[in-house]
Amino acid sequence: MKILIATPEATPYIKTGGLADVTGALLKEYTKMDLQPSIVLPLYRQIREHFKLADTGHRVAVPMGNRTVSGSILSHGRSAYFLECDEFFDRSDLYGTPGGDYPDNAARFTFFARAALEACIALRLEPDVIHCNDWQTGLIPLYMKTLYRSNLFSRTATLMTIHNLGYQGLFDVSSLPLTGLPAEWFNPEGIEFYGKINFLKAGLVASDSITTVSNTYAKEILTPEYGYGLDGFLRKRASVIHGIINGIDTDEWDPFKDTFITAKYGATDFSGKKVCKNDLMRECSLSVHGRDIPLLSFIGRLSAQKGLDILIEAADDIMAAGVNVIILGKGDEEIQDNILSLARRHKGRMFVKIGYDEAFAHRVYAGSDLFVMPSRYEPCGLGQLIAMRYGTIPVARRTGGLEDTITDYKPLRGSGTGFLFDDYRASSLEDCLGRALCAYMDKQRWRKLISGAMAQDFSWERSAKEYITLYADAIQRKRG
Ligand code: ADP
Repeated sequence: MKILIATPEATPYIKTGGLADVTGALLKEYTKMDLQPSIVLPLYRQIREHFKLADTGHRVAVPMGNRTVSGSILSHGRSAYFLECDEFFDRSDLYGTPGGDYPDNAARFTFFARAALEACIALRLEPDVIHCNDWQTGLIPLYMKTLYRSNLFSRTATLMTIHNLGYQGLFDVSSLPLTGLPAEWFNPEGIEFYGKINFLKAGLVASDSITTVSNTYAKEILTPEYGYGLDGFLRKRASVIHGIINGIDTDEWDPFKDTFITAKYGATDFSGKKVCKNDLMRECSLSVHGRDIPLLSFIGRLSAQKGLDILIEAADDIMAAGVNVIILGKGDEEIQDNILSLARRHKGRMFVKIGYDEAFAHRVYAGSDLFVMPSRYEPCGLGQLIAMRYGTIPVARRTGGLEDTITDYKPLRGSGTGFLFDDYRASSLEDCLGRALCAYMDKQRWRKLISGAMAQDFSWERSAKEYITLYADAIQRKRG
């Protein structure tokens, strides 16, 4: 089976969130399975700076309104392709600066979608399936039903994965001519969304199969609360929507092999975790007072989705309970300011690092006792999976993938892998953390919790197979 993954991000090339982990891991997994995968991404400045790419010698020309934008196809290894167009992708960031989105994102990702199909033709890739990811690739399935409805793609199926329905790629209708799409598609059954063009919806309308990254989120997006205005539309396509849980790269995230951490450890002997904790507290200048103080951490985008408002509201009580806190993240400036001012107030007890720091993230996952994810919604969430692999116990809201991957701790039975709460309220988060701290006090129970969490299997193998089954099914339906 020839698979092309079209994505705006993939590890190891470029990452701003979990989407990059998913697409990078799938490419690796399919290669292991002896399939023929390839991946196509925009050539961002950061990729050019860090990877030595080869020129394939092929170029693409994309009609955009009244001009044609051309680009080159570069490659890395045997399976990664990058579409070079400096006008669109040679920039400091991927989608925008902290000041806001780039104003020409519609043009940038129209180019990417169409250039990806042009690249298939130029490189004679002839994929059996194109796996599209998020709004940046949403136009691809629709192009294949319209402008590219030729023999070239008549046997190619499409699968669209929603990694986060909160980001849909909404643009003013004045961008429609740029896309070259026939005007009749601009209606509520097509790509219109309350007077705007919706790139993600283009993918959802036209793809043969739709997935999202957990079973619970696959159900949640059909409801008004989580549907971001698309729930009604998605309900009509419910028969082709599936949830496939994300895994993690278990080679990269392995406390037994991790080169970023000071002491390595495994599920049977995690004494090294204590060393990691002490080193981490020293690195973050957190006071220890010679006592066993629980260390709670948060790593993630500082966005409203991640539940930082209730975490900030609960922070003073959390500190009063004698917990030390580490926060690593970047994003929304107001949230950044709020947590920085909390850290100033709780100097020596709370450490905040604003920025994206892979190496520090590894040390935080390994050195913490508890990992908090109070998300408003969470399509899958990778933080809790990584945390559990490092024996760091999640305290999370029961939503989306958090619900599917964490089993709530039952003290009488001594079963579970973390602590869950339901209501999106600071007091519910506090109660949940209170339960976690009670368990933490009982060292025997806590050790059992850690080894149970570390023994969970979050490898990609099973999920990759589920994608293959869906691809095969979509290809079969497409070819009648
Ligand atoms: P999302 O995709 O919504 O951002 P996920 O939990 O699915 O959230 O994935 C986030 C991934 O990005 C995790 O691997 C997490 O460790 C990593 N990450 C997020 N923020 C940072 C940061 N500031 N520094 C390092 N890694 C980060």
